[in-house]
Amino acid sequence: MSLWDYCKICQCCCNGVLVNLTDEEKKILGREELNNVLSPCEFCKENGCTAKIKPLDCYAYPVLIVRKGLSFDYSCPLFKIYFLQLFHVGSEARKHLESVREKVKNTKKEDLERYYKETDQFPNELLL
Ligand code: SF4
Ligand code: SF4
Repeated sequence: MSLWDYCKICQCCCNGVLVNLTDEEKKILGREELNNVLSPCEFCKENGCTAKIKPLDCYAYPVLIVRKGLSFDYSCPLFKIYFLQLFHVGSEARKHLESVREKVKNTKKEDLERYYKETDQFPNELLL
């Protein structure tokens, strides 16, 4: 069983949220924004995300991109299991966190600033 299997049932992070898009993602998805605050994301289908590319904001979640590095959204039901898996080399959570770090390293500063603006409003002391 995968760490992410529960997401197919939950889908909470594809509903009621504003997804930040990088300039490149805007071009590929043909959208200026993905505003899912009042309705489920247009790309969210029964078997998950159908977007051409998954935006970094979505890929990273439940990891949050914050000014000081990476943090975690406690409201995600996977919080406990994800956190525990981080102690195990090769676990899905460890691999996910490492790939988020890599993607963030390769993201332009101006794009990262969009994430920071949002996460600055919800200071989170837990850094991963
Ligand atoms: S909120 Fe957490 S458990 Fe729910 S879909 Fe998003 S990542 Fe998966
Ligand atoms: S782009 Fe995909 S992962 Fe992101 S909110 Fe929409 S359906 Fe969910």
